[in-house]
Amino acid sequence: MDDNHTIITKNAQATYKLGRKLGNTLKSGGVLGLVGDLGSGKTTFVQGLAMGLGIKERLISPTFILLREYQKPSGGNLYHVDLYRLEQVTKDDLATLGILDFAKDKKNVILVEWADKAKSLLPENTIWVNFENLGENERRITIPD
Ligand code: ADP
Ligand code: MG
Repeated sequence: MDDNHTIITKNAQATYKLGRKLGNTLKSGGVLGLVGDLGSGKTTFVQGLAMGLGIKERLISPTFILLREYQKPSGGNLYHVDLYRLEQVTKDDLATLGILDFAKDKKNVILVEWADKAKSLLPENTIWVNFENLGENERRITIPD
C-alpha cells in the first residue's frame, strides 16, 4: 500500500522528535500499535510521544510489568504497554491488563509495543506504526497517513 508515510531517522533524537510530533496531534486520544524488533526505536518514539502529549514525567519501559499509566494534561491517561514478555496474547490478557476498557475512553492514548502479538485483538481504529532496523543508527518508521 502506498498511503503510508515512511521516515528514515539517523539517530535516536530524530525518532524521539517524530514521536513528539505525533503526540502533538494525538492529544485527543487514540490507540497505536507499535511493531518492530528489539532496539528498533519503539520506546524512544513513545518517550517523544509522551513529551508531545505534554507529559513531563520520564517514561520507563514497562517491559517487566507490561503496563504503565501516566496522566495526560489534556485529560485522560496515557497507557504504555509492552507485550514483549507475553508468548501468545489472548483477549483475556488484554482484558486483565484493562486495555480494552481503557480504549473505550476516547481521551486515553494507548501505546502498545510488540502490538503484532495482539494484532486481531486491538480495536479496529488502531494506528499501526512499523519500525525497522536499517543499521546501527538508522531506523525506518512507517506511519499511516
Ligand atoms: P525498542 O523499544 O524498539 O526495543 P528502544 O527505543 O528501546 O527500542 O531502543 C532503541 C535503541 O537504538 C536505543 O539504544 C537508541 O539509542 C538506539 N538508536 C540508534 N539510532 C536510533 C534511531 N534512529 N532511532 C531510535 N533509536 C535509535
Ligand atoms: Mg521497547
